[in-house]
Amino acid sequence: MYDVIVIGAGPAGMTAALYASRSNLSVLLIERGAPGGQMNNTAEVENYPGFNSIMGPELANKMYEGVNQFGAENAYGIVESVKDFGTYKLVHCEDQDYKGKTIVIATGCVHRKLGVPGEEEFAGRGVSYCAVCDGAFFREKELYVIGGGDSAVEEGIYLTQFAKKVTIVHRRNELRAQKIIQDRAFANPKIDFKWDSVLEEISGNQMQVTQVKIKNLKTETEEVLPADGVFIYVGLDPLTQAFEDLNITNAEGWIETDIEMRTNIPGIFAVGDVREKNLRQIVTAVGEGGIAGQQVYNYLEETK
Ligand code: FAD
Ligand code: NAP
Repeated sequence: MYDVIVIGAGPAGMTAALYASRSNLSVLLIERGAPGGQMNNTAEVENYPGFNSIMGPELANKMYEGVNQFGAENAYGIVESVKDFGTYKLVHCEDQDYKGKTIVIATGCVHRKLGVPGEEEFAGRGVSYCAVCDGAFFREKELYVIGGGDSAVEEGIYLTQFAKKVTIVHRRNELRAQKIIQDRAFANPKIDFKWDSVLEEISGNQMQVTQVKIKNLKTETEEVLPADGVFIYVGLDPLTQAFEDLNITNAEGWIETDIEMRTNIPGIFAVGDVREKNLRQIVTAVGEGGIAGQQVYNYLEETK
């Protein structure tokens, strides 16, 4: 029986594990992949204090290096469900169960798919959701980035170091991305925009993507354009299927908590991107992880 089981080793979960173990609690941190979460798919981070600029995977490594210094244990596993038995919670992974007096959910979210023809067929053959993973394959190539948020615009800028040209396709005529990111994109000679436009289809040959069909929503005109790669950044969906039976999610699947990261079930906390909130950032994930780590300690003291 662990004092706390943290599910997900992104910045939120790693910080919760660090704080709880530093309070002398027994901690198990369960992760289904490489520690670091979405930081592993992020090119450059320049809004995390302490670093003027750092590559996402490097920041992930640095955080992970410090996580176990106070005794937190790690386990590989995909958490499939959590059951609440009051004084303890049962965490079920595919081939193993764990018991914890408390749980911190830090499973984050995943990139949303567009659902257009060709997206699935050409995934890994020109369709990507990760510029830092795949950008280098597209030297001197013609790329399309779909979306108008921070991810689309920032990763679009990153791709210009490899690509011949990057066209950002956005369904409205103004970007959602932060102003500083927008200004950089507008000033970048390799970036072009298609406003009020959506991607309708991705097609190619047996090997790779060769063209995209783009529709202008205002004029209703369609164009088929040569393309070597399509990077899709149209938002995020919460990773909360495993917690559906707990009734702690809202209609869209995000977990609701109070400002102390408590869900409506005593002893179950949620932190980071998986929460219903406005600002999904590394710095907020880390802050919430610290709060939850401390709240777990308080909860265990109160229920002793
Ligand atoms: P995540 O980082 O998503 O980590 C969740 C972890 O939980 C993952 O490792 C996942 O594998 C694991 N997990 C999920 N489900 C399970 C399960 N069932 N069982 C076991 N493990 C599970 N923020 C910034 O501050 N600055 C930036 O420059 C920046 N750039 C970004 C660029 C991109 C392309 C993207 C997508 C995001 C960016 N962000 C940036 C946002 C930032 O990465 C996130 O806000 C942050 O990573 C959220 O941390 P988290 O720990 O809540 O979740
Ligand atoms: P986002 O902010 O939700 O933006 C998604 C974009 O995709 C929006 O521009 C949206 O258009 C568009 N879109 C959604 N569905 C679409 C569809 N079906 N067809 C076409 N376009 C569609 O998602 P995100 O950019 O991935 O950012 C997620 C979170 O991570 C945000 O909180 C963001 O701030 C954070 N983040 C931060 C940084 C940073 O701080 N540097 C970098 C990356 C991400 P509309 O604008 O019309 O809605």
